[in-house]
Amino acid sequence: MGQIDLINISKSYDKQKSVLNEINLSIEEGEFFVLVGPSGSGKSTLLRMIAGLEDITAGKLKINDKVVNHIPPKNRNLSMVFQNYALYPHLSVEQNILFGLNAKKVNKKEQQKRLTETAEMMGLSELLKRKPRELSGGQRQRVALARSVVSEAPLCLMDEPLSNLDAKLRAQMRIEIRRLQKRLGLTMVYVTHDQVEAMTMGDRIMVLNDGKIQQVGKPITLYNEPANLFVASFIGTPK
Ligand code: ADP
Ligand code: MG
Repeated sequence: MGQIDLINISKSYDKQKSVLNEINLSIEEGEFFVLVGPSGSGKSTLLRMIAGLEDITAGKLKINDKVVNHIPPKNRNLSMVFQNYALYPHLSVEQNILFGLNAKKVNKKEQQKRLTETAEMMGLSELLKRKPRELSGGQRQRVALARSVVSEAPLCLMDEPLSNLDAKLRAQMRIEIRRLQKRLGLTMVYVTHDQVEAMTMGDRIMVLNDGKIQQVGKPITLYNEPANLFVASFIGTPK
């Protein structure tokens, strides 16, 4: 579960010029797929459309071979992690992790089971009663990841989840996120503007500039055979 197809997807906000232009792309089940590009290139817009948080102006979006253009976010069986973590300050770690499950009508016993497993996996078992303000940046990031993991959704979307962390923690979290994705067999769509993150984490990478796909491929292919000057300079190789 977790195949995504974008068929001729375009997006404009209001009547302004389009921010995404006829995007055609298939993301495979179990793949770690990275969307990379400079600020303003349309990465978040694309991710939010997959999540159902943004209308699709034209084209078709399929998840598991089903057109989902008009399916609301909560029925798409996916989880999302944002840059600012979006934790609720007045709720404990435990309540933050479990927040989404009540809406999904997961019963209390199942919630506790998932909480215990997830907290253990994410190294949060000792911190469940704390409030977000009593956590370090890295711990908060882990709570955000835990909230996504606990949903057991097969498809996970992340929008620059590490950009608020310092370099050392970022490097560590890259490895943790990859490990988690493999272990759970998730289909991951991961947005970043950081080339190193893209190159080290992605099974495949899509380079976006100004709403248009520049290239899609494995990191090694983008490095050795950049499709154009933009990709070459963005990825950091001369052409
Ligand atoms: P990225 O995530 O790559 O930085 P975004 O998807 O956030 O890019 O933005 C792409 C373009 O769409 C930018 O020009 C931005 O100003 C514009 N944009 C994003 N959100 C909105 C909005 N809600 N209304 C109008 N324009 C928007
Ligand atoms: Mg963005």
